[in-house]
Amino acid sequence: MKTLIVNAHVISPDVDIKGASIEIVGGKIKSVSKGKVDRKGFDTVVDVKGKYVVPGFIDVHLHGACGFDVCDATPEAIAKIAEAKLAEGCTSFLPTTLTVANSTLKKAARAVAAYRKDERFAKVIGIHLEGPFINVKCCGAQNPKFVRKPNLKEVLGIDAISPVKLISYAPETKGGAEFAAACIAKGIVPSCGHTGATFAELMAAYGKGLRHLTHFCNQMTKLHHREIGVVGAGFLVDDLKTEVICDRIHLCDDMLRLVFTKRPLSSIQMITDSLRCSHCEDGYAFEMGGLKVQLKNGEARLVEGGNLAGSTLWMSQGLKNIRDVTGLPLKDLIRVTSWNQAIELGLGKKLGKVEKGYVADLAVLDPKTFKACAVFVDGVQKI
Ligand SMILES: [Zn+2]
Repeated sequence: MKTLIVNAHVISPDVDIKGASIEIVGGKIKSVSKGKVDRKGFDTVVDVKGKYVVPGFIDVHLHGACGFDVCDATPEAIAKIAEAKLAEGCTSFLPTTLTVANSTLKKAARAVAAYRKDERFAKVIGIHLEGPFINVKCCGAQNPKFVRKPNLKEVLGIDAISPVKLISYAPETKGGAEFAAACIAKGIVPSCGHTGATFAELMAAYGKGLRHLTHFCNQMTKLHHREIGVVGAGFLVDDLKTEVICDRIHLCDDMLRLVFTKRPLSSIQMITDSLRCSHCEDGYAFEMGGLKVQLKNGEARLVEGGNLAGSTLWMSQGLKNIRDVTGLPLKDLIRVTSWNQAIELGLGKKLGKVEKGYVADLAVLDPKTFKACAVFVDGVQKI
């Protein structure tokens, strides 16, 4: 199958080419060039009329969409979420679980494995376990009832059903630093999240290889001038990779500017942390890990206590938000929506760029709204 995309405004890390042509052969990008290419010999020619063509987004932290949650643990839920993600321009994702019982986590892994047999929409790279080994005092919208101590055996039991790629846990718990090293040895990225760790406690896990912070600034120790906490570490230690929810609610615009201008862009990963109420109408109410949540004015908050429960963000809107807030060039910002994630997950030579040799996972975005008008997965146009 040979496809030619013409009239593309290609935006890729360090690349900004208007009037570009993209040759796709066998699901991979064969060439990206300025100007016209002979259309003869192609099965399909797609004229994108000057729209942005960017690397398909990779969301490493999302729980649900369209009324479905990964912890519903059905193949139908995973497929519906994958379909919704595709509409955001997302071509790969990490279905993310909540702090729930081990039996539910295993059931969710079975559902993910079933979807992976026939990936019709966005592709699954692996599972992100958010919890259950978190700090009970920093639960946010995770249910404290199911919090437990780090247990590699439990993780490997889930991983055996469907591969786990990322685990968010609190490194300050006993054995927390060693747990990071044990995860890395099994090919799983350990991440500090829902944590009350001091700077020293985080750095003990850093010493064992931990390099990832879950939804930076949310549910972690704040920066204090005598104890800089996990937020301080995020600013001090450049090679810590920080997930950032770019919905302008979880972090105010000033904090987004601070993060995107003071941290290296190579260390930031945009996430949605979207819940089942994303892609739903205002007023939608639901239960999450046994806790009641309602969507009001686009904000998903716990009915009791009012904690933010996650977001309703779309990846495409997140990119527009950080462009609007920071004013940084898209060719610089674009690395935070896919390439950084791909590198950390060992896929940096295959995913995250619109360049020769890369998999043709592409999102075509309207330059005004950033909404995805077309999406290609492995070179096949899915939207
Ligand atoms: Zn989450």
